[in-house]
Amino acid sequence: MPLTVASNSGAPSPSYGGDRTPHGAVVCVLRPEEPADSQGINVETTQEYEVVIVGAGPAGMCAAMYAGRSMLRTVVIERGASGGELLNTELIEDYPGFESIEGWDLAQRFEAHARKFGAEFVQGTVASVRKLDDGSFETLTDDGTRYLSPAVIVTAGGTPVKLNVPGEAEYAGKGVSYCGICDGAFFRNHTIAVIGGGDAATEEADFLTRYADKVYLIHRRDQFRASKLLQKRAFENPKIEVVWNKVVERISGDENGLVNRISLLDTVTSEQSELDVTGVFVFIGFRPNTGVIADHVEHDEMGYIVTDTSMQTSIPGLFAAGDLRAQLVRQVTTAVGDATTAAMAAEKYLTALRDGEAVVIEGHGGYTV
Ligand code: NAP
Repeated sequence: MPLTVASNSGAPSPSYGGDRTPHGAVVCVLRPEEPADSQGINVETTQEYEVVIVGAGPAGMCAAMYAGRSMLRTVVIERGASGGELLNTELIEDYPGFESIEGWDLAQRFEAHARKFGAEFVQGTVASVRKLDDGSFETLTDDGTRYLSPAVIVTAGGTPVKLNVPGEAEYAGKGVSYCGICDGAFFRNHTIAVIGGGDAATEEADFLTRYADKVYLIHRRDQFRASKLLQKRAFENPKIEVVWNKVVERISGDENGLVNRISLLDTVTSEQSELDVTGVFVFIGFRPNTGVIADHVEHDEMGYIVTDTSMQTSIPGLFAAGDLRAQLVRQVTTAVGDATTAAMAAEKYLTALRDGEAVVIEGHGGYTV
C-alpha cells in the first residue's frame, strides 16, 4: 500500500532519486527552478540535505538524533547556542532518568547525542522556509545560505512575552531581564522584582533568591497558575514577598541608566504605588517563533502551528515539533516526544518519495499505509 501523505497545497512531490553516501544515506538531487532571492537575501551558497531542522532546542536536537539514526543527511540550523529554553532553566527536575540536571548540561548532552548519529549543526538565522514548485523546500538564512531538502522540521520554540511598558526596552540588559540563569548573578544582594504567576515566574523567583536578598513576586491576580509544587516553594521561601493584584506600569532608572524603581497599578483598587528594585525579571509567557512559516501554514488563534498526529503541518513534508506546536502542555518531555514522531514521520515521508510510491493526497489527517 502506498504511504499517504497529508496535503492541501496541491504541490507536486520532489524528485528524490540521488546517490547513496558511504554510510547508505540518500543524497537528494533537487533542482529548484525558482530563484531564491525573494527575501532580498543574496544567496551565496547552496547546501543539500535530506532533513533540515530549524532550531536547536530539545525538540530540534532530539529530531536530529532520530533523523541521524535513520541515516538521513541532517542539518540543524540555530541562531544561538544549542539548548533553547533549557538555557533559561537552571535545574531540570522532571526529565525521566535525571532527578536533577542543569539545563545547559542537558542541552550539551542532547547536542552530543545528535552529533554522534551524524547530525550537523550550523549557526545561522533562518529568514524563510518555503516549498518550491518542484515540491522541495528552500530554507534561507540571512547570511545568504540556501538549504534545499525534501523535508523540513521546524522546532524554533518561542520568544518571551514583553510587558510593553515604558522603560522596558530602554532598560533591557540594564536591569530588565528575561533569563534568570543568564543574569541572576548580576543581582547578588540586590532587591529585585519578578513579574508573572506561572511556572516560569514562581520557579525563577525561587532561583533568583540564590543571589538577591529580596524578590518581589508580582502577579496581576490573587492566585498563581503555577504548579502547586512551584507555588509551595515560592511561598515557603523567606526571601520572596508575593505582591498580588498588581501590574507594572513603568520601569524607571537612575542617572547611570540602570533600573532603580517600578511603578505599579493595583488591578482591584486602581491605587498606584512604587517599589525600589534594581532588577526586573519578566516571565509572563512566550509566543511561538513561527514567523518563517506562519503566513502559509495552518495555525491556531494564538499563532501555534497545527499539526496532525505525525507532527506534519498543513504542508506535506513540513513538520513541526516542540513549543511552537499547538498542544496542551509544553515541557522538555513533550518536545522530545513531538520530535521523535516528527523525525520518524519525516523518514517515512522520504522513503515514500524515494521509492516512488504514490503519495496519495488526503486531508490533514496523517499517514495511512
Ligand atoms: P504561563 O504559564 O503562560 O504564565 C504566564 C503568567 O504571566 C500568568 O500568570 C499570567 O497571568 C501572567 N501574565 C501574562 N501576561 C501578563 C502581563 N501583560 N502582565 C502581567 N502578567 C502577565 O507562562 P510561563 O510561566 O512562561 O510558562 C510557559 C509554559 O512553560 C507553561 O506550559 C509552563 O508549564 C512551562 N514551564 C514549566 C516549568 C517547569 O515545569 N519547571 C518552568 C517554566 C515553564 P494570568 O495567570 O493572570 O493569566
